[in-house]
Amino acid sequence: MKIKVGTRGSMLARTQSQWLIDVLAKAHPQINFEMVIIKTKGDLVQDKPLDKIGDKGLFTKELEDALLSGEIHMAIHSMKDMPSKLPEGLVLTVPTIREDPRDVLLTPHHISSLEELPEGAVVATGSKRRICQIKKLRPDIELIGIRGNIDTRIRKMQEQKLDGIVLAAAGLKRIGRFEDSAYQTVSLPENMFVPAPAQGILAVEIRADNQQVKELMAAISDKNTRIQMQAERSFLETLNGSCHIPVGAFCEIKDQTIVLYGLYGLEDGSRVVTQSIEGSPEEAENLGKQLAKKCYAAVHQQTGKVYLAGGGCGDPGLLTVKAREILEKADVVVYDALVNERFINDARADAEIIYVGKRAGNHAMRQEDINALLVKKGQEGKLVLRLKGGDPYVFGRGGEEGEDLYDAGVPFEVIPGITSVIGGLAYAGIPITHRDCVSSFHVITGHLKSNAYDGSSDLDWPVLGKLKGTIVFLMGVKNLEKICAELVKNGMNPDMPVAVVHRASTPYQRVVTGNLKTIYEIATNEKITAPSLIVVGEVVNKRQKLRFFDQKPLFGKNIIVTRSREQSSQMVEKINELGGNAIEFPTIRIIPINEAACDQKVDVLSDYSHIIFTSINGVEIFFDSLTRCGKDARAFGKLHITAIGEGTKKALQQRCLRADFVPDKYVGEELVNGLAPLLNKNSRVLIPRSKNARIYVVEELSKICPVDEVQTYETVREDHATENPLEMLEAQKIDYITFTSSTTVQFFVDKIGAEHIDAINTAKAVSIGPQTSKKCRELGINVNIEAEPYTIQGIVDAILKDSQK
Ligand code: SAH
Repeated sequence: MKIKVGTRGSMLARTQSQWLIDVLAKAHPQINFEMVIIKTKGDLVQDKPLDKIGDKGLFTKELEDALLSGEIHMAIHSMKDMPSKLPEGLVLTVPTIREDPRDVLLTPHHISSLEELPEGAVVATGSKRRICQIKKLRPDIELIGIRGNIDTRIRKMQEQKLDGIVLAAAGLKRIGRFEDSAYQTVSLPENMFVPAPAQGILAVEIRADNQQVKELMAAISDKNTRIQMQAERSFLETLNGSCHIPVGAFCEIKDQTIVLYGLYGLEDGSRVVTQSIEGSPEEAENLGKQLAKKCYAAVHQQTGKVYLAGGGCGDPGLLTVKAREILEKADVVVYDALVNERFINDARADAEIIYVGKRAGNHAMRQEDINALLVKKGQEGKLVLRLKGGDPYVFGRGGEEGEDLYDAGVPFEVIPGITSVIGGLAYAGIPITHRDCVSSFHVITGHLKSNAYDGSSDLDWPVLGKLKGTIVFLMGVKNLEKICAELVKNGMNPDMPVAVVHRASTPYQRVVTGNLKTIYEIATNEKITAPSLIVVGEVVNKRQKLRFFDQKPLFGKNIIVTRSREQSSQMVEKINELGGNAIEFPTIRIIPINEAACDQKVDVLSDYSHIIFTSINGVEIFFDSLTRCGKDARAFGKLHITAIGEGTKKALQQRCLRADFVPDKYVGEELVNGLAPLLNKNSRVLIPRSKNARIYVVEELSKICPVDEVQTYETVREDHATENPLEMLEAQKIDYITFTSSTTVQFFVDKIGAEHIDAINTAKAVSIGPQTSKKCRELGINVNIEAEPYTIQGIVDAILKDSQK
């Protein structure tokens, strides 16, 4: 009985085929195995890079033809040369034991890892898989192409004085050239430098109907190799891989489980991912498929992008224009403790908001988990804004996040931010440099590994003690005493000015100053805690003239704004401009009602002689109705228009309507007195207004002429969760509560709870006018201030005046 074994003619092919024939012959001494050498296209074309020659099956086609024609019974290949799909009628047998699966670097340098290759080293390899992995691990390495058998390549390395070539360990071992005095052999770990699928395994290809050869091979099969081959080949097959695209796989066999590592990328190498999956050996094939799909999705799915952005050091105005742009369109916003929470209001309503910082009782998310989260969201195709306090790279661990995104192939950009080091100091009135005194500055972490006074410090105090520039310590309040002591001990003048700045550029900013001898005690007495900046240097003295922020008239005042979210921005802005802390606690929400009734009035608008708008909402909702009815401002014709309040007047102006009459005071009595002389019994008045409005105006005007009221909106309680200010009220931290209507008073008390009226009365109530004040008194709130005029500006002016008393 004679079995013809086909092989390519290269030395390696012949050696490994002979090896297999020997194993077979030993297991089956009665059978005569004969080697038949067949040349393939891949052997004939030696001068072009493999991926330029053409198709899959470069090293297999002629052997397969011989199998199909019956010229040979089995064909032996390196498994890594096998295309993922075999021709009809051919199959692979179970494999025998695997040779070393790894890739190795051969190099003339005496090194033991890829990392040790010199900067800018020249390494030759033809494989896309190897190229992209080297590029990832060592972007500085220059890569050049190479072809030819093992000997040729080693020779080229020596002749061309290359710094290295990458080859499969298996081939080198089989021909006895794994180690050599002429070069160093550096093995590249399989899970870091993923080998070609099934590298080191010999493929035995036969006709599907050849039962006899199948059995011969079954006798020498190896279980673990079979599992590895199943997993790795199934990965390759699912990806339909060829030598044109970077593909690698390695299956690690553990005790009970297997871990499959897969590498996959685009043909041009612009996107490459390495991922892994773990499961039981029985699922090998399935795991290969799953991992392939995962890698494919990661590479081809429209990937998102992650912006590593600085959110500035506290004042919301210190967010960059670019970060705001991304904030407004991001799918996901990931932020931490030092970021101003107000930004979250500006994210898309359907954006996913993820807080990863520390909160009372809650641990911050671990950095690795944050990195993984960013990678995951990016891979899901999301536009991610990673918002960090200050600048992302100033003790912000932004670098680590960027590196992990790079490793995962997720595109990212960095948007620098205003760091507390510079911006926070500025808000404290401290310029980080000044021509008068310093010519440098130094930013140092005060988060010391050892807090003991035993000299085992992780900062170079002798050097720091001699610095002439401004020194800013971050994360240092806990170690303030030690920092000052070390600086003095190491030569710094004990009189050197020091400032500690708590929550710079926020309404809670506090600044204490002293010198190296005194500051610890001062800061301790003042109970200054983190987050704070410690500033050491002459520039601290400049604060006397340069402080501007904590000098603003409403600085340090906490003011609750109870208007609806949509309406509050004007008041919030005015308060913030004056340095106050506007705390938004919306109590009401406006919802349109009776739309059909309103539309009906709009249809017969020309029947009226007068119209009265009592609020911005009234104007907006009436115009919505006009739009619905296909009309515009012309529908008003000669109608006499009354507007109550500056805001209402402006809302009309924006729609190109000028109010004919605006009462001086914004109360019903004033309106009736002013409007009555303009009406006669032929007049007809329309008042589109809130359901909650007073009956008074309608009653009085009806005495003169017909008046139609249409209730176009309703003010309901805002029950959407916002932080409840009760705690701050109880701690007597709220200075003012502003009420802009009786409804806001009612719902504020409802929401806080009538039983907490004493807590509410620890703050000064500011009412917009007599009606609102009346409601306050009814509910037990002491009205301290009433606006004059009855407007938002009036409220703000009244607070300003009161605060300066
Ligand atoms: N990336 C940030 C710094 C992060 S380290 C930046 O560029 O500002 C955290 C430390 O920064 C805090 O412990 C504190 O020392 C400092 N810090 C950040 N914001 C601050 C602020 N508004 N006021 C005072 N210190 C601040």
